[in-house]
Amino acid sequence: MQEKDCLFCRIINGEIPSAKIYEDEYVYAFLDIAPGQQGHTLVIPKKHSENILGLDLVYGIKIIEAIQKIAPAVMNAMGAEGFNIIQNNNEVAGQTVFHTHFHIIPRKPQDGMGLWSPKPYETMEKMQETAKKIIKALQ
Ligand code: AMP
Ligand code: ZN
Repeated sequence: MQEKDCLFCRIINGEIPSAKIYEDEYVYAFLDIAPGQQGHTLVIPKKHSENILGLDLVYGIKIIEAIQKIAPAVMNAMGAEGFNIIQNNNEVAGQTVFHTHFHIIPRKPQDGMGLWSPKPYETMEKMQETAKKIIKALQ
């Protein structure tokens, strides 16, 4: 279930301390040590997988269930009006810890956090071509 050299597995085991906010049989949630906003929380499955592609779906359901419980609490506690769920996969996408995790980041008006700058398609045709490429890759 857990990997001895994985930072988040070691946090689940209590080998490394964390500011835990929630735990059940499937899920562990704790504060991010370098928060994007105060209250930034990480929700992780207790069964190790490197990223979302390997996540056991039984744990996937439990994680979404936990997010539905935890995110409103994070918002209320922090006086936030919304939240982002961010989930990075692979180094190029910003993943630094290779144990699947979901970031809950509480958001307030004008909090200065931008997520991405849009890179529009040059034409509608190019957009359709891109859709076709992905549909082909799905087969
Ligand atoms: P990611 O960049 O999506 O892989 O996210 C990993 C997150 O784990 C980062 O936001 C880190 O700040 C956070 N992190 C790393 N080590 C710890 C730790 N010991 N306790 C809490 N959060 C951590
Ligand atoms: Zn792990």
